[in-house]
Amino acid sequence: MNDCNCQTPAPKFPEQVTGMYILARALARVGIKNVYGLVGIPITEAAYMVQGQGIRFVGFRHEQQAGMAAATEGYLTKTPGVLMTVSSLGFMNGLTATANATVNCYPMIQISGASDPTMVDMNMGTYEQLDQLNTARPLVKAAFRCSHAKDIPEAVNRAYRAAVSGRPGGVYIDMTTPALGEIMNAADAEKLFYEPVDIYSPTAPNREAVERAVELITNAKRPAVLLGKGAAYAQVDDKIKELIEKYDIPYFPMSMAKGLMPDDGPLSALSCRSTIMEKADVVIMIGARLNWLLSFGKGKWNPDTKFVHLEVDPQEIDTNRPCAAPVVGDMGLALDAILKAMEGKKMSSDPSWVPSLQAETKVKNAKFAARLADAAKLSPMNHWSALSAIKPVLAENPDVILINEGANTLDDTRDTISMELPRHRVDCATWAIMGMGMGSCVGAAVATGKKVVAIEGDSAFGFSGMEFSTICRFKLPVTVVIFNNGGIYNGIGEPMDKTTDPAPTTLDVNARYDKMAEAFGADNYYVKTPEELGAALKAAIASGKPCLIDVQLAADAGKESGHIGYLNPASLQEIKV
Ligand code: ADP
Ligand code: MG
Repeated sequence: MNDCNCQTPAPKFPEQVTGMYILARALARVGIKNVYGLVGIPITEAAYMVQGQGIRFVGFRHEQQAGMAAATEGYLTKTPGVLMTVSSLGFMNGLTATANATVNCYPMIQISGASDPTMVDMNMGTYEQLDQLNTARPLVKAAFRCSHAKDIPEAVNRAYRAAVSGRPGGVYIDMTTPALGEIMNAADAEKLFYEPVDIYSPTAPNREAVERAVELITNAKRPAVLLGKGAAYAQVDDKIKELIEKYDIPYFPMSMAKGLMPDDGPLSALSCRSTIMEKADVVIMIGARLNWLLSFGKGKWNPDTKFVHLEVDPQEIDTNRPCAAPVVGDMGLALDAILKAMEGKKMSSDPSWVPSLQAETKVKNAKFAARLADAAKLSPMNHWSALSAIKPVLAENPDVILINEGANTLDDTRDTISMELPRHRVDCATWAIMGMGMGSCVGAAVATGKKVVAIEGDSAFGFSGMEFSTICRFKLPVTVVIFNNGGIYNGIGEPMDKTTDPAPTTLDVNARYDKMAEAFGADNYYVKTPEELGAALKAAIASGKPCLIDVQLAADAGKESGHIGYLNPASLQEIKV
């Protein structure tokens, strides 16, 4: 289309190709296996051509969820997930997921159809007019615009490189309608493709940094390893295991690093978070950030604790606390260098350090087990009762990927469900956002071929519930478990205005989410007891088919904001939630 709204003459395949064809070929050439998206003008044919190149195109009902799927593939595979959107609103719907990927350091590429920029720039009021390139720019690592078909292969290769190198993140390609429709001779187009050399190009830390770190580690009295999702992402599981096991260092995993080392292993300090903060004298922080999730390194943290920080992004070092030994560079190369430099060296650990953590773990775990056992007797169920039934079933199926979002549902599931394998837990992560669940289920299932179980709060599920239909259309081995307590946080909020409207936190405790699964031909269960839930989940996982389990909880189960109510501003008037 041009400014007289007339179409250009049709190209003749196979002598000629268009930008869309070049885009599909460029994605295939760089090794993209899956594209997640939602079609419409101007990218519909491009999606078909993506399929034509042997790439799986997973069509969604909302772009944000397609983006969550792409981001999840990026996190789980260390290669960029690709999201394809239409212009204007479709672009912005998807951009929320791309921004979330950037914040979480997940590599992904959003490719969006875009109206002719010469018309956008003149504010002519063209179809779906929006300056998408500049809208995306502050939220992504890198942004490119293709105004010509000839630029597409280079843009795709550079976007890939930008997404995976250094600190991974979201990258945007503005794929303009003129470039998508531009006709080229096939022979000329073929010459545009090239093999990018060393597309993920890791850099090693310098020798002084490694020696400084090893000096601190080997002289520590009470050392600890703090594992973040950057460590899980890096796929250096064996090196981390060697550092921990060879040198007998207890570890504490952040939420998505759970399973990198087994949660129930002898050196796991999962139940001793406060003790690590208060007593560890040297903390080796691997792929984690001292952000709000770690009290910014303040609060309970001992002010004398020294940090060794393995981190790819130099700008992250010293954030919120001075770092005694930064080791800047790729995690794998950093661990190689540290392990080599430690060879033959002895640790100076206090011999009572590990046993004291093990003793604390034993006491805390016994308390926790008693709490679960007590909750298992409750009727109606609360979150703990439901989790008491889920825990043994997931323990029998350690290779299932767990997707988890909600407030109480998130906190209680994270605390209850032990992870034994790396990269098997995906949750709302750094931004603690709701509405990542269904897209992440699709991305995890498509990218890995593994079975997936999502544990969702009823509110969290609502953000992306329609994507259950996507799970069904693609026949993915995903079980969605909904903890229905009828509300955001819970279902007992009292409206302040005394009208018949529900309270701001109230949803519907009698809603039958299992009926949604029926609409799309999926297996479904409605369960009221731990026994029913355990049996349903077992059957659902074994079936390998889409399934939805509506778990009836009490409306008063769960508290406002779960474990993070302290983040609310001080209350002015009493509210009942
Ligand atoms: P968590 O939330 O689990 O604490 P974060 O997402 O806050 O984890 O931190 C992950 C950190 O890991 C980021 O600072 C990121 O730059 C870093 N990182 C990601 N990939 C690598 C890598 N390959 N090598 C080194 N550091 C990495
Ligand atoms: Mg973090």
